[in-house]
Amino acid sequence: MAYDLVLRNGDIIDPGENRRFTGDIGIANGTIQALEAGTLSGTGAQEIDAAGHIVTPGLVDLHGHCYWGVGGTGLDPDLVGARHGVTTWIDPGSSGAATFPGFKRFIIDQSQVRVVPLLNLSAKGLVHCGEVGELNDIGYIDSELNAATLEQHRGLIAGIKIRAGRSSTGKTGMIPLWIGRELCDQFSIPLMVHISMPAPTLQELLPILRAGDIVTHCFHGKTGGMLMRGKVRDEVWAARERGVLFDVGHGNSSFSFPVAEAAMAEGFPPDSISTDLHQRSIRTSAKSFPAVMSKFLALGMDLENAVRLSTLAPARAVGQEHVCGSLRVGAPADVAVFRVDEGEFTFEDPQGETRNGTLRLENTHTIAGGVLLDRSRDPLADDPFPVSTI
Ligand SMILES: [Zn+2]
Repeated sequence: MAYDLVLRNGDIIDPGENRRFTGDIGIANGTIQALEAGTLSGTGAQEIDAAGHIVTPGLVDLHGHCYWGVGGTGLDPDLVGARHGVTTWIDPGSSGAATFPGFKRFIIDQSQVRVVPLLNLSAKGLVHCGEVGELNDIGYIDSELNAATLEQHRGLIAGIKIRAGRSSTGKTGMIPLWIGRELCDQFSIPLMVHISMPAPTLQELLPILRAGDIVTHCFHGKTGGMLMRGKVRDEVWAARERGVLFDVGHGNSSFSFPVAEAAMAEGFPPDSISTDLHQRSIRTSAKSFPAVMSKFLALGMDLENAVRLSTLAPARAVGQEHVCGSLRVGAPADVAVFRVDEGEFTFEDPQGETRNGTLRLENTHTIAGGVLLDRSRDPLADDPFPVSTI
């Protein structure tokens, strides 16, 4: 058979079938046509030698900001995806109902990679949110427009996002969370809550979260985090037990090695690894999805598990496992290739804490919908604002 693209001799890790083997992948018409141990017969119009590299499903970033140029956070999803191995970005509320139509037309519909939006409860989304918290005035919540937008884009908008914390919800406290809860129940979609410095506290907000809801920035090291005297809080364990998901969301200030280490030592790994990549965090300690995954390898997580938490697990969290997160014949051909460097590497968290590891992942090829993405353009060359507005 003739393929459009064949990947040869990769160390294939497929979390969908929980398997790892050396083999080939044949791609045609945007989908995976063959996935075989050993050598695939037939040739590709384009062939990639992946010998000595791991081959995984395209990464699924549960927290990556993609609304370039609208608000200070957004990155170009294709340019970054091409260099990091990300083929699905779950955008965590960069747009709200008042800015969503532009997000759909100019980003979601135009991107080679898949962009799955979560709608910010605030109509303005993350426009100038560093200066004016998007939910610190109840007037930013337009319940009628929120419901109409969710209705119009059923099946596209995968959840509601609320940044809960001093700088975002501020004086409105728990009110946005109660409103968000009701909206999610009405549309049967998950609520993603960013946790940060209180108010509200975890003790206040966790009880309103249900199975399938997502807490992001779970290992942040700020006041009021998941640990109490070095141990995972009872409320956090109770939330996990009823099915609330805990996501990394590394970001510019929202990941702490000591917190992650203490939680994992107690048997509390994350449910998903994600970057919270945005215009600032990509330039500071988050850097890239493979870099964040490498930090978890340094904390002792095995490679297969790190891949699962960066592909299938986030795909499931937003109901996208039918299109991404695993390698399946007939599925869209979203595939990533990584070099695994071995040596002595030092990784840094946003507070400057370091940990050493012996493995480092580097993306070499990214294929989205069967197309090898162009990695020649630097996603940071084109900074949309002269000074940071995050
Ligand atoms: Zn974020």
